[in-house]
Amino acid sequence: MSDHFQSDLLARIKPAAALAVAAKAAQMKADGAPVINLALGEPDFATPDHVIEGAVQAMRDGQTRYTVPDGSSQLKDAVVEKFRRDNGLTFKRENISCANGAKQSIYNALLATLNPGDEVLFGAPHWVSYADASILAGGVPKVVACPESDHFKLMPESLAAAITPQTRWLILNSPANPSGAVYSREEYVALAEVLGNHPRILVMSDEIYEHINYLDTPFVSFGQACPEMADRTVIVNGVAKAYAMTGWRIGYVAAPAPLAAVIGKIQSQTTANPCSISQAAAIAALTGPQDFIRECLVAYRDRRQLMGEGLERVLGRSVPYPDGAFYFFPSVKHLIGTNGSDGRHLSTDVDIAAYLLEHAHIACVPGSAFGSPGHIRFSFAASSDSIAAALQNLGSAVPS
Ligand code: PMP
Repeated sequence: MSDHFQSDLLARIKPAAALAVAAKAAQMKADGAPVINLALGEPDFATPDHVIEGAVQAMRDGQTRYTVPDGSSQLKDAVVEKFRRDNGLTFKRENISCANGAKQSIYNALLATLNPGDEVLFGAPHWVSYADASILAGGVPKVVACPESDHFKLMPESLAAAITPQTRWLILNSPANPSGAVYSREEYVALAEVLGNHPRILVMSDEIYEHINYLDTPFVSFGQACPEMADRTVIVNGVAKAYAMTGWRIGYVAAPAPLAAVIGKIQSQTTANPCSISQAAAIAALTGPQDFIRECLVAYRDRRQLMGEGLERVLGRSVPYPDGAFYFFPSVKHLIGTNGSDGRHLSTDVDIAAYLLEHAHIACVPGSAFGSPGHIRFSFAASSDSIAAALQNLGSAVPS
């Protein structure tokens, strides 16, 4: 039963878990608790100066008016150029649709294509919003377990077994949030082979962490790996993670032109254009010097090492190091059934995350939010000092 205000549909939706934890952490901080936030996937770097300058210049030049609902021609051209430069992919302006963040791009794409009962397939652990966005858009999330023994990746056999006549989308995410898994060209090709027999299924490849890749091999876009799937592939990306621009809210898709058009149609009836000034900033980010990305990667690599070693010390066991993105997703199953040092019983990963927040002042996200109970996600997009302090708190809080 929904409450007085909430629709039946909305009653089935959860608030985004990391944002909910972060809001609680911010409240505790405001009340004086020294909370360290490892919940959010938010780079702690400042947005590069030339991007800020791009925004200031746009304001001075009077770019303060409505643009085309799904992004100015200049922004779309910058996105086309990005795909050419970074991914060797050729698109036209008509293939691009820009939104208020990749999150809205994903939601728009689902809303544009799902009929009631259509299934949206993705592996778990998965980014929280795939499930709720699918429901909001009238679809049915179909979650396939991807165990740690498979490096949290979707295997072709599991994909084949999960497909039904209702399957409309397969969502892939590499580098992945929260597992850090990175798919190789061969792994993509094997998944695409399964889809060869199912022409109705569209593929959404969420590549927002593309530049945060710790492997020696370069990142491969699904579009690059599987060009024969181009007429049913939507590549999602954005500026938030690569350029420390989480607050500017610019995301985009590259899709077959008719699909990009229906995705854009939603923008015209919902938010209209993403902020014109943010669009100018995104153009500066996408077309300006790209050194910032490399500098951040050096810092993330160090933080990954710091957090990996610290977690192994504190948890007393090895933890999987992520190949990309900026999260550790260790199992905490050995802590389930134990008591915290304040005496409380820890019966689930949700209990453990609550205990760590309230007792150890570490904000982190329970694996249940990502469809994988028994794990905790720790972000290392925070500064090294914050990570070191959090590890110290963790050491005192975790029962040995
Ligand atoms: N996809 C994934 C996998 C993410 O982790 C996030 C942000 N946490 C997004 C999409 C959304 O990015 P944006 O801030 O551009 O909406």
